[in-house]
Amino acid sequence: MTNSRTMFGWALVGLVFIINAFIASHCIDDGGFVADVSALLATLILLVPMVTSIVADLRAGAMRMHELAVLAVLASFMQGELLTSACIALFMLLSMVIETRAASGARMSLEALARISPGKARRVELDGSESELEGHELNIGDRIRVRPGESILADGVVVRGYSSVNEANITGESLPVDKAPDSPVFAGTSNVSGVLEVRVERAGEDTTIGKVRELILRAQESRLPFVRMIDAYVRYYTPLVLTVAATVLYFTRHYPDGFSRVVALLVASCPIALILATPAAVVAALSSAARLGVLFKDVNDIEALTRINAFIFDKTGTLTTGHLEVTQLCPCAGVETTDLVRVAATAESGSNHPIARAVHALAKKVNLHVEPPAELHEEPGRGVRVRGDKGDIVVGNLPWIEANGIAADEFSELERAQAMSASLLFVAENGKALGWLAVSDRPRPDAENTLTELGTLGIQYSAIVSGDRQPVVERVAGELGVTQFQGECTPAAKVEFVEHARQQGDHVVFVGDGVNDGPALAASTIGIAMGAAGSDVAIESAPVALMNNELNRLPFLLTLARRMKAAILQNFAIGGLIVVGGIFLGATGRLSPMIAAALQVAGALVVAMNSARLIRHGEEIQVMEITSSNANATSRVES
Ligand code: ADP
Ligand code: MG
Repeated sequence: MTNSRTMFGWALVGLVFIINAFIASHCIDDGGFVADVSALLATLILLVPMVTSIVADLRAGAMRMHELAVLAVLASFMQGELLTSACIALFMLLSMVIETRAASGARMSLEALARISPGKARRVELDGSESELEGHELNIGDRIRVRPGESILADGVVVRGYSSVNEANITGESLPVDKAPDSPVFAGTSNVSGVLEVRVERAGEDTTIGKVRELILRAQESRLPFVRMIDAYVRYYTPLVLTVAATVLYFTRHYPDGFSRVVALLVASCPIALILATPAAVVAALSSAARLGVLFKDVNDIEALTRINAFIFDKTGTLTTGHLEVTQLCPCAGVETTDLVRVAATAESGSNHPIARAVHALAKKVNLHVEPPAELHEEPGRGVRVRGDKGDIVVGNLPWIEANGIAADEFSELERAQAMSASLLFVAENGKALGWLAVSDRPRPDAENTLTELGTLGIQYSAIVSGDRQPVVERVAGELGVTQFQGECTPAAKVEFVEHARQQGDHVVFVGDGVNDGPALAASTIGIAMGAAGSDVAIESAPVALMNNELNRLPFLLTLARRMKAAILQNFAIGGLIVVGGIFLGATGRLSPMIAAALQVAGALVVAMNSARLIRHGEEIQVMEITSSNANATSRVES
């Protein structure tokens, strides 16, 4: 009943009666009676949705102070100018329509981001036939077939087919991603070019998009501190306004326009633009962030971004691509190179660390068969220890190897290894050194730009902390122009680095991966986990989850936060000016009730539009991503 469309319907009917009243009184002789009845009806009709909305608010425990609007209409009605009171009622209802519409419209656009478009899943049965069912009816292990143009309705892994999939819904990346057997796919994304067969791994609420949806709803309900403060005081507002009105009425009771002043005051006192000031801007900002693949759990984090002065980055997979390659192999005397790789790959078979993935890739390239070990322990920031039928294997950095009782000088060409600016993976089996592998990694192409942009946005310094060897960190820092860096950090040392910065009064964003860097993410002012799509841990535990790996989202978030804060302040200024200025001008007889009501509509409109601007912030990034990829495609075709 209180939705904006119904309210607008009532407003239109009221308008018809107002026009009728106007025509009757101005164009028809002796039309006065018809005009009065028509205006009266208009007022009554317009009051219906206003009163209903108050009742609904009271039931929901929400305070929007619409009772002041009704009081204002009733007061102007008591003045006896029926057409004026009908017009005031119309204006007040219109501003309420704008308020409701702006708040719910933004909320709907936010929720629409995490909605799976309707459609049926095609399950492939054992006999090869297809049966259609709803997405949430799918079970783990089912096989579904997805044709081009269809939505994928569950999370899973491609078992057959090649295609490109638009994952913008989840990752905020505008470009379709290529899929081949073994690629993960997500519910809510849409299949673009080929037929895919997918083995379902998660369905319904458990899917990534289900989690995203849950987070979006949670973020929407979080409140900025000053909104909480306002909420605590709203119940004193109406009594306060009534006291002011009564006082003004008392002192102006002998003036001819005394009552009209009070009506103007009441009309102006409805804080419609003020009520809309924060929610509209906050939801618009959440929605703009979500569209680019950034999920906030608490709107206070967006606000806190406006005070950030330092960024601390993890290196591997964050500032660098995380696609490492094995560049050198150095087996110890008497060890076969293939054995070195096989043992390393066995140990890493359960790990998802970028170094582990480099080893997997090498093993696959040389067609090594790898038996997954029975027992596996991964030590974050150090390495892995496994127990298999052929014995114990330890792989990782040198401190980890030494901690497991293997002497460093057992490895051949150790000095050469340590002089290289590559990451090193040492391998030992049953207490005996087998050799080392060098892996290297490149900075992300947009890393340097991002760091420069953060600087122009007023960030005082960026730093790199990494578990990798100091020479590697130094090289990457040098390439990116970062002067503060620290290598050989355990996860605890990263926390210490962050805490030290905060003790010095810095407001720190830590950017890292959501799995390994959990403690540092939690210790910073705001923790942003990159590449969170596909990792539930990252999505759920990181304060801010960046679903893709695009570093350009960081400067975007800073400007978004600043714009949101500016919009909120502007909205408050507009809303406050209408209320305070209106009450003052009304009480001193310089504002007519009608103008006051028109101001309310204008105020609500300006605030709604000012907030809606935020939704479009960041569109240029998506446009740029699409055009630059088109340009790349064209130049590839030409060459
Ligand atoms: P970064 O801080 O650069 O992201 P991590 O904290 O993830 O690095 O890891 C730090 C170091 O720990 C790596 O450089 C590597 O030497 C070692 N390490 C961590 N996990 C593994 C693993 N699964 N296999 C081999 N080495 C590992
Ligand atoms: Mg890392």
